[in-house]
Amino acid sequence: MPYNGQTAGKGGHSDFVRNPDVQAFLHDCDYMRPPSDAEGKAMAASFSKAPADVSPRLPEYVLASDASKRDEPINEKLPSTQIGFIKVSHVLIQMNKYAELIDPITRFVDPFKVAELHRNASPITYTLPGSNIRYKGAKSVKDGFRHAVYSQLGEDRAGGDKYQFILTDTLFALSNNKVVVNRCPSCNSEHEFVFVPKTQTLPCKVCDAIIYMTDWLRLHEGISDFGDNTVAITRMMSCIEHLLLMAFIRQVFEADVRALSKMAFVIDGPLAIFGQPAKLHARIMAFLFTVNLKLAELKKEPLLVLGLQKTGEVMDHANMMSRFLPSGVLRILDDDYRNKYIKGSDAPAANFGNETYFGQDFLFKTERGRIFNFAIPYMHPNKKNENGANFAQLKADPKAYGSLIVRACDFIRHFELDLYDSSIVPVALAHRHASISITPGGKVLDIITKAGLSRT
Ligand SMILES: [Zn+2]
Repeated sequence: MPYNGQTAGKGGHSDFVRNPDVQAFLHDCDYMRPPSDAEGKAMAASFSKAPADVSPRLPEYVLASDASKRDEPINEKLPSTQIGFIKVSHVLIQMNKYAELIDPITRFVDPFKVAELHRNASPITYTLPGSNIRYKGAKSVKDGFRHAVYSQLGEDRAGGDKYQFILTDTLFALSNNKVVVNRCPSCNSEHEFVFVPKTQTLPCKVCDAIIYMTDWLRLHEGISDFGDNTVAITRMMSCIEHLLLMAFIRQVFEADVRALSKMAFVIDGPLAIFGQPAKLHARIMAFLFTVNLKLAELKKEPLLVLGLQKTGEVMDHANMMSRFLPSGVLRILDDDYRNKYIKGSDAPAANFGNETYFGQDFLFKTERGRIFNFAIPYMHPNKKNENGANFAQLKADPKAYGSLIVRACDFIRHFELDLYDSSIVPVALAHRHASISITPGGKVLDIITKAGLSRT
């Protein structure tokens, strides 16, 4: 209804925000607001000059991933009948060939050269039942979804017989080859189902349903027979993207651990797993710690895994802050800063992201004036407090990250292009599926072995 002489026009958004009831309600709420000049200056004062190496230690190979999903009705006449489709693309960029992709004058990626490399494109896809779809005669959408998750994660995606690339293997490897489910996901009766690589499915003695080792991920818990299953498909997409990344890292780790110190892995999004599969984050954190321990023993640099976030509350904050920041500054996003300026929370958690995050966020404004929110993995095996120190303090100590912070900054500087806001070339290329899209598994290993990375 029009009010204050306003007409209810197309600007529905601002109309509703101007509504006195909404205004009164907002007055009672805490939320992120643009900082005042004084606040902005105070926040900016806590940033410091971003580190840069005189000769940047750039990786020789960059593997970037990008995931997308569709979850739409299969037919306009059946709007409640939904299928989930997840696609994860990977690009592998060889640094010494990277220069050839860039036009030296415009600093843009040459679309013709990129198209040439596009021929091998081979994204990994997963198809899942959504509402009103029962897979292989399952008694409910949820049971069919569990079955589909297990069969698709258990599939070998290497695309050849030389290597294997199976996500259930990765999940076992991250879990010391033992996965325990405490409850039947079909009838909910309590029972301990213990899975090992040789036994990946077990029957429920109460309801006879088959329980799969992948039920540990709890992805099915967001699935209902007729409800909208969009959130569950989104969780699954993020979970699979992280598992695939770990599968790549593990493959190189087992073949030639030294090569990992010359590679970078980039993921589009935070280093965190949200929702039902969140506990996977702790296993990823422990695995990456093991990798880095091994690299340290061999006197090699730690593995650069970079999460880049283009949207979300940290980027909202960053965009509001940017005008107060000089170029070339960095800040570790410790919990104090996050709670004070981003979360606006009076009762913050003892450790932000305790159940979800395996990496630390940073805000970085480059010398060219673009602002990035990047994350690198925590350099600890778990979040238990050590020597009385709270994990919130441990993770906020820049010294813990060794060379990773300066390497991350140099990496972003190198790949930053005028074309993309808060994105870098590998991620943008993965997103457009327009680069050296690779078949998983074999090819990465082949290329790395041939290059003899570990010998140099
Ligand atoms: Zn049961």
